[in-house]
Amino acid sequence: MAQNSLSETSSNSASVWPAILDVIKQNINIRSFNTWFAPVSLVEHNEKQLMLEVPNRFFSEWIENHYNTLLQNAVTQVLGDSKKIVFSVKNNDTAPESPYGAQDWAAPSSKPGTVTTPNNPQAEYVFSTRINERYLFENFIIGDNNKFASAAAQAVGDAPGRTNYNPLIIYGRTGLGKTHLIQAIGNHARQHNPDIKVYYASSETFTSHFISAIQKNKVAEFSAFYRSCDILLIDDIQFFSNKGKTQEEFFHTFNDLHQNGKQIVLTSDRPINELNALEERLISRFKWGLVVDIQPPDFETRLAILRRKCDESELDIPEDVLEYLAVNLVDNVRELEGALTKIMAQVTFTAAEPTIELARGIVTEIARPDQNILNIDTIVQYCAKVFEVSADQIRAKTRKKNIVEARKVAMYLSKELTRHSLVTIGLHFGGRDHSTVIHALESVNERMATEPTYRNKLESMKKHLEYNR
Ligand code: ADP
Ligand code: MG
Repeated sequence: MAQNSLSETSSNSASVWPAILDVIKQNINIRSFNTWFAPVSLVEHNEKQLMLEVPNRFFSEWIENHYNTLLQNAVTQVLGDSKKIVFSVKNNDTAPESPYGAQDWAAPSSKPGTVTTPNNPQAEYVFSTRINERYLFENFIIGDNNKFASAAAQAVGDAPGRTNYNPLIIYGRTGLGKTHLIQAIGNHARQHNPDIKVYYASSETFTSHFISAIQKNKVAEFSAFYRSCDILLIDDIQFFSNKGKTQEEFFHTFNDLHQNGKQIVLTSDRPINELNALEERLISRFKWGLVVDIQPPDFETRLAILRRKCDESELDIPEDVLEYLAVNLVDNVRELEGALTKIMAQVTFTAAEPTIELARGIVTEIARPDQNILNIDTIVQYCAKVFEVSADQIRAKTRKKNIVEARKVAMYLSKELTRHSLVTIGLHFGGRDHSTVIHALESVNERMATEPTYRNKLESMKKHLEYNR
């Protein structure tokens, strides 16, 4: 059947990219390989072109400028033919449509039994699952923050359409692993059954496919395509908000798939009840299945994620630097990864040492300006100024009286003015234990209760920091 042969075309891609990487690996040094090629994955390929996903635009520019010939040669060697190479930037929500654009769904319009040969115009339209092969359960770190979500995702990946989790809905703030998990379901299911038809799209892609189907008078093909999936993965359904016609179309697609025992998995960046602009009947359908959330990872999980990424890219970064990153980048895994990538780039290209100093600069760069939350480093620096000592002295082990005093106050203000835990605060002060922090807080509180001048001084420091954040 045409649909099967189409899906086989794309499932071959599982072996294509590793083979290309192998050739590249033999031709450049391992460090450059790990920096520039290990993070790249193949998202789609057809007879004419390969679409590679890169972490950011910098990567694609660098690869084009430095490794274009190498990449082309490797592609030719593996596929026997040269291909156009296009890049897509990872996690770029506003990224342009894939070069296949709305054509993904045109594939099944070929009549059953049609053979897709190069002479058949339909062959241009390769059924592509649009799944990134890097998003696997195997490289998803499980912590208290995501254990229910990942257990449910595993169950669905094992038995799509045959659990009570239909639909499965994963919600969580941005950068916490929703896209990773939803695609891992697809990858897992395909590993066990290469013929299974998995389709991944964001709600925006679904919307633009639908709009273009209307414009081209191909709504029937559109409907047939989406109904032909065994597993339909729709990411970021919050973007369906206020799109009445698309919601209606999705509602019918949903019902048909559900009735036929097909699996539906959705993600949202907010709880279902808060998706105000979604139609009530759609929300009520969502409640048929299971809703699980992902919370921000705790310190241990953040550290485990960093260690794992280092292992994957054979990066040697000292433990205290990883801890520094895990302490400072608290609510977004994408930022954590971004920091590691930057360190990696600097170590590779400027021969910088991967030190806490380097990490500090990168963390400051990443911390979003709109976040407006005081960080512990700012507090330490301010206390250093007030007590006329250096920030490094505050973090160091020295027991000199005025430095100990500055340190205690900085710990106290960190507790008062940030949302960090005692453990986190301790780590900021040269890796001290949380009991040391408790001790400092007690000592400051005691003095505040008995010495009005001391109290006034601290209150004014607190105000200064609050107004200047
Ligand atoms: P979201 O879709 O929720 O915005 P993503 O799934 O895109 O977030 O995750 C952002 C990045 O963080 C991805 O590169 C993903 O692989 C990584 N990531 C998130 N959570 C984990 C985890 N628990 N283990 C490993 N990597 C993770
Ligand atoms: Mg996402």
